[in-house]
Amino acid sequence: MKHTEVTLSKHPKVRSIIDPKTVICVCGKRVRLDRNYDPDLLDRHVKNKICKSNDGNSQITQFFSNQNSETLKKRKLCIGLNDEKVRLYLRRVGFITTFGGAPPPEIVARELFGSKIKSSFHWKDLNKKENDQLLDTLRSRAKWINDSTTFCVRSTECSTYIEGINEVCRQCLDLKKSKVFLVIK
Ligand SMILES: [Zn+2]
Ligand SMILES: [Zn+2]
Repeated sequence: MKHTEVTLSKHPKVRSIIDPKTVICVCGKRVRLDRNYDPDLLDRHVKNKICKSNDGNSQITQFFSNQNSETLKKRKLCIGLNDEKVRLYLRRVGFITTFGGAPPPEIVARELFGSKIKSSFHWKDLNKKENDQLLDTLRSRAKWINDSTTFCVRSTECSTYIEGINEVCRQCLDLKKSKVFLVIK
């Protein structure tokens, strides 16, 4: 499994991520990781007596009573959209489309390079510079990104971090109103 900020932020013992190698455990202790976003040392810390996160119910009640003051302030990562409809959509596009809401690559390629693009478009016919230019243009026209590593859809204007009790930022939530997702059944 690939360790990313997103996967680590979903770890049940993570209260907050300070930097790629430092997290705050739900018990309040700071834990150093040996590799970026790798929870291995956090798991070891949790099994250790110095970690109070497993101290029965006191922790849970404390967690809920602290929730208003604590969780509202903590910065969380927007998890993007990954509900039923989005998963269906991702399965259908098969991650061939990374840049959601942008025109098809062959159309944009023709706009950019004109008649150089034959009737059947192939990425491999482009040189490095053209390839980069096409990718940049698609990215700039995209409304969302299909993220194959975390299996979610994220707005290109995702605010990345969110505050409060929500798990998804406003821009990502707004994507649900896009026709593509509304029509999925
Ligand atoms: Zn702990
Ligand atoms: Zn977002």
